[in-house]
Amino acid sequence: MANTNSTPEWSPVAAVRRPAALLFAQLFEHYYPTWAERCNGRIERAVELCSMAGACRRGDLPGVFQVQSESNPRGSYTVDMNARTCSCPDFGRQPAGRAMCKHLLAVGFHLHGPAWIRRFEDELYRLKDAYRHAWQVQLERANTFEFLALVAPGATTEDIDNARAAVIQATEQAQAAQALYEAFYTKYIALFFPRHEA
Ligand SMILES: [Zn+2]
Repeated sequence: MANTNSTPEWSPVAAVRRPAALLFAQLFEHYYPTWAERCNGRIERAVELCSMAGACRRGDLPGVFQVQSESNPRGSYTVDMNARTCSCPDFGRQPAGRAMCKHLLAVGFHLHGPAWIRRFEDELYRLKDAYRHAWQVQLERANTFEFLALVAPGATTEDIDNARAAVIQATEQAQAAQALYEAFYTKYIALFFPRHEA
């Protein structure tokens, strides 16, 4: 079942491999579309920071991190995940409570990325089960109904015709459910493996 851990672990951060950072970024866009929309290219730069060795380091206090400045490799900015703030000029220029910068994003990917993957996998499997189950149940029910009509003593032609019509209807519903499932599945697979997107 869902293993979503809402409490981030304030663990030391290390660079993640680039494909993992890209996946974290995609999941961020998936779960927080409103935030992602405001990011204007910062997500791509956060991916770079997230996958760069030593760029994100744990600070002295829990939830506080030092993130390397891209323009000055010897400088760094302080990201406070408790207050959700960053000391960089980009963050400071934006409206309070709505500000987002690549440093905050990079730390966010490190801390929340693994939980987003677990959440996503849970959703994927739940959807798969739900749709597969729905169309199988429809078909089984219709087939049983048809069989009962055929073997029922004294069943009229009309009874059998009705049962067959029900099978056709159930088959259509099953196909619609299957198509819906496949659409979801394609969408989710594309999120996991963007290069294989049709
Ligand atoms: Zn920043």
